[in-house]
Amino acid sequence: MDMSATPGAAMVSVDEHLATVLAAAASLPVRSVALADALGATLAAPAVAAFDLPAFENSAMDGFAVRHADVAAARADRPVRLQVVADVPAGSPLDPPLAAGEAARIMTGAPLPTAADTVVPFEDTLGGLADSLGEIVVASAPRSLGAHVRRRGEDTPRGGLVLPAGTLLGGRQLAALAAVGVTGVTVASAPRVVVVSTGSELVPLDDLPARGGSLRRGEIPESNGTLLAGLVHGAGAVVVRREVVDDEGDDLHDLLDAVTTGPDACDVVIFSGGVSAGAYEVVRQHVTQMTFGPVAMQPGKPQGFGVAGSTLLFGLPGNPVSVAVSFEVFVRPALLALQGRARLHRPRVRAVADSGWRTPEGRQQFLPVALDRSDPAAWRAVPVSGGGSHLAGRLGAADAYAVIPADLEVVRAGDPVDVMLLD
Ligand code: AMP
Ligand code: MG
Repeated sequence: MDMSATPGAAMVSVDEHLATVLAAAASLPVRSVALADALGATLAAPAVAAFDLPAFENSAMDGFAVRHADVAAARADRPVRLQVVADVPAGSPLDPPLAAGEAARIMTGAPLPTAADTVVPFEDTLGGLADSLGEIVVASAPRSLGAHVRRRGEDTPRGGLVLPAGTLLGGRQLAALAAVGVTGVTVASAPRVVVVSTGSELVPLDDLPARGGSLRRGEIPESNGTLLAGLVHGAGAVVVRREVVDDEGDDLHDLLDAVTTGPDACDVVIFSGGVSAGAYEVVRQHVTQMTFGPVAMQPGKPQGFGVAGSTLLFGLPGNPVSVAVSFEVFVRPALLALQGRARLHRPRVRAVADSGWRTPEGRQQFLPVALDRSDPAAWRAVPVSGGGSHLAGRLGAADAYAVIPADLEVVRAGDPVDVMLLD
């Protein structure tokens, strides 16, 4: 048995352990993809505009392209009459000349005729749309020369920065790139992750139907694999293999060898279970590339971490809430760092404790809470469980973790608490 599991070994802080993890998480190689394939990826190089945006001077309103000088003096008691000599819908390549006293009807987004400098919206004419292709009557002056005109390049000029490296590409970001004519981007590779659940008590979900849905005494359904698969996916990474192994450890060496060596080596292995100080700690006893030690947190105190070749190895304690919390605190930032993501951490906001609870002195606490958001100025953190790290069933109700500093022993109802937002 490995005696490095000594209870009472010096605890490291959450920040210290995270620093160790992040120091080992270098960015993965990058690749070029079409914009259509970039959703959810992280931009690996700054993206600059291929076109001016807007690409040409155009109208911000439906109305009339005019020469400002013609209408500058228009007033209700001295309206100006203009002759409409052209019609320019969106998409039109027309560039009609306008003499003094002439206007072109123009729709939103249509190119402003070179001869015009200002747009008068329909609603600022007496006839409006109904009477818009003959003579129009302008009864008030535009607020300025250039009113209702979108200038070429006023949003982003060609060559201007649209998004910096490290940006997560969602719908809004991809649309911004499309709008400036970017058709492909350089993105980080998605980390390839292997998830290994350990425990002789575990019954893989797929085996349950064949057993008529029943378990023998001592067995439990394996749920950490499902938990981690979901969390890994949410962090922009891909689960390439899932295994459930028992506490004997016979298969563990071969498995680890297979997934950490050769051209198909994965980037990250996440073990759950078998890392603490019990008698059957399969990961702790058999995975020699990791070091194990207590981290000053609750849940999640026993943690293992190491590197095999270029693969990061995480050994998380098996309790489902410990797995979920350890993932957020250590694994997710590492997965994002592998992708070169600029922001590695979940946002935190200040909320109000809805009820009181105890917290272990000397350990930072992460308590699953459901946020009552009915008052936008004071979200309330409602604990979803008594803090037991085995209470997996209640985890589904949590949408945040209250993060309580190590030096506190109690949180009282009404206390301000920081919460880490999970989605
Ligand atoms: P361990 O860290 O191996 O001592 O596991 C701590 C607790 O978490 C035990 O009650 C295990 O049965 C439970 N556990 C460990 N792995 C899993 C898993 N994959 N799914 C559900 N529960 C688990
Ligand atoms: Mg176990």
